[in-house]
Amino acid sequence: MLITDTHTHLYSEAFDEDREAVIKKGIDKGIERFFIPAIDSGYTQKMLDLEKAFPENVFLMMGLHPTHVKENYIEELAHVETMLRQRSFCAIGEIGIDLYWDRTYLKEQQEAFKKQIALAKKYKLPIVIHCRDSFDEIFEVLEGEKGDDLYGIFHCFTGSLEQAQRAIGLNMKLGIGGVVTFKNGKIDQFLNQIALKHIVLETDAPYLSPTPFRGKRNEPVYLMEVLNKLSDIYQLPVNEIAYSTTENSKEVFGI
Ligand SMILES: [Zn+2]
Repeated sequence: MLITDTHTHLYSEAFDEDREAVIKKGIDKGIERFFIPAIDSGYTQKMLDLEKAFPENVFLMMGLHPTHVKENYIEELAHVETMLRQRSFCAIGEIGIDLYWDRTYLKEQQEAFKKQIALAKKYKLPIVIHCRDSFDEIFEVLEGEKGDDLYGIFHCFTGSLEQAQRAIGLNMKLGIGGVVTFKNGKIDQFLNQIALKHIVLETDAPYLSPTPFRGKRNEPVYLMEVLNKLSDIYQLPVNEIAYSTTENSKEVFGI
């Protein structure tokens, strides 16, 4: 069984003590493909080191995370462009708008999102969207930019059925992780109305551990809980969920 984690921050400080062991534990379970979103330039070297350690398993994205869009965002975007010119990446991510923590930089977040969508089109790459308390703002940008050349993943999807359908209509797959196992996560209520071809799996490790590990550090093997939950929701065997979602990830990333 080959399982794909489409969103995991394995370079995070949270794994500094046992990174190799944790990744190998995941690989032993069949979780062999890890797609790694960027945050800002401060993490680039750690991402490159991670890829060097696991070249068969790790695929890097490049981008500026919306909560890291600050006064210096122009310089940060220049770093993203420099990296894109230097070598290949599998996606532009994670990018988007986050209004949960702070609305101060909303305008800058919108601009950074649009500029990075332009980079995705230029380099013919998918985008990986981070959306928190910002569905209206995200959809406004996507509607303005939509087209065959804009596609990707709505990471950690937490919206309604209508928002899910709207995202799919904009060439986006839904990244499903620990939230689907939460009692109050809501998406488990309607996911069976969304065809499996629109779904990809993710941990978002070290964040958002699924039940029964909620509140603890998330790690690759916990993706099995998400897989089991989707098996319940879709009434399909676990290996079929693993196969389909991996195929979907190949369609997005071309890897
Ligand atoms: Zn993330």
